[in-house]
Formats: sequence, structure tokens, C-alpha cells
Amino acid sequence: MSLMNKIMADVTVQNSKIEGKGVFAGRNFRKGETVMKWDTSIVFIKRDALKVLLNKRKYLVVSNGMYLLAQYPEKYLNHSCMPNTLEKNHYDIALRNIRKGEELTTDYSLDAPPHIKMKCACKNSNCKRII
Ligand SMILES: [Zn+2]
Repeated sequence: MSLMNKIMADVTVQNSKIEGKGVFAGRNFRKGETVMKWDTSIVFIKRDALKVLLNKRKYLVVSNGMYLLAQYPEKYLNHSCMPNTLEKNHYDIALRNIRKGEELTTDYSLDAPPHIKMKCACKNSNCKRII
């Protein structure tokens, strides 16, 4: 199996109950396992990141001090204030055991550019409301 096929088997993109499309586990993951590796092919310095087209800005993330334009499939990763993955060094790591078919989520407040704010409606008891 090629690497690309393996990556695509690990996660799928489907309609989400949170918002629009989401990324879903294509198999079971154990806590601490790598769920996705981020595509870091489109990197900006901060000044250029601020010029990114408005309709693409929601895909901007800051990771390790780098401004990235999130690519498929990670650009569809939805936010939750009680996420099941955490981005570390451009990898999404499972924060707990995740079952095949569960939607994958991350906490945008950890890696969203400081000038981008959005409302959250995840309904978790610890919801930050504005992220
Ligand atoms: Zn929330």
C-alpha cells in the first residue's frame, strides 16, 4: 500500500454535525498515536499571511511559529473546546482512544492566528465561546 493510500485510509472527509465538512477517523486510534501529518508545503511569514484572501483565511494556522495554509484533509478539521486531537510539530496526536467513525477535532485557540476570532457552539461544559 502506498503512503498516500495509507494516509487516506486513516482519515476520511465527510459532512460534519459541527460545521460543514469534517475529518473522521478511518480506523481506531490509541491515545498518543499520530492521526494525521500536516502538509507544510504552503508556508508564509506573518506579513504575507495577513494578505491571504479573506475566504481562505479560515484555513490559516500557526504551528511552531510558522503560518501555514491548511491543506486537504486537515483543513476540514473542526474545532472543539474538548478536542480529541492535539497538533504537535505538524502532527495531530490522539488525546484519547478514538473509535473508527468519530469526528476528529482540535482546539483552534492553540494554533489559530491571533487576528482571527470565531464563535464556538460546541456545547461542551468548558466551551470558550470565542476562540
Ligand atoms: Zn466550544
